[in-house]
Amino acid sequence: MAFELPALPYSFDALEPHIDAQTMEIHHDRHHKAYVDNANAALEGTGLANESVEQVLTNLDSLPEEKRTAVRNNAGGHANHSLFWQIMGPDGGGAPSGDLAKAIDDTFGGLDALKSAVNDGGAKRFGSGWSWLVWDGTGLAVYSTPNQDSPIMQDDVPLLGIDVWEHAYYLSYQNKRPAYLEAWWNVVNWDEVARRYDEARG
Ligand code: MN
Repeated sequence: MAFELPALPYSFDALEPHIDAQTMEIHHDRHHKAYVDNANAALEGTGLANESVEQVLTNLDSLPEEKRTAVRNNAGGHANHSLFWQIMGPDGGGAPSGDLAKAIDDTFGGLDALKSAVNDGGAKRFGSGWSWLVWDGTGLAVYSTPNQDSPIMQDDVPLLGIDVWEHAYYLSYQNKRPAYLEAWWNVVNWDEVARRYDEARG
């Protein structure tokens, strides 16, 4: 079963004014679609062609060397963007509750400290990449990755990720990546992040 582009779970303009409709349309319909198409093309005829994106990303070494980079970049892009659409929403923002809120307090000292750590990772990521909150098997952690590398590749579970590729913000924010990172928290869907946290802990 080849990968498929998932439908955006809200309208292109649902995240305005924080993320503009044109950015969302290009980002979902063109960028994410290209990752899906290119991943499928690179995986065709390999032993991972019918596997889940998680299986693909944790078994890159089993691929022929000439396919590995294309699969890493494009299956990574598919996984990252599939998560990204879900952990944003039109009723976003605010603060998490329950176990996730407690874990954030215990690990980082509070929500503001978590936001600062994620934003700092995103601002300092040179070039293109992502800034993440992950479940690392024992607790929460924050780090950034280059390009389309996914935390799944190192057996972590991504709970929240901010895309810091210029295509994610350039139309509205131009070179002001920190302003985009600051505004992004107005669209975070904490219910979905908390659901992923509960699922990750098993
Ligand atoms: Mn992107």
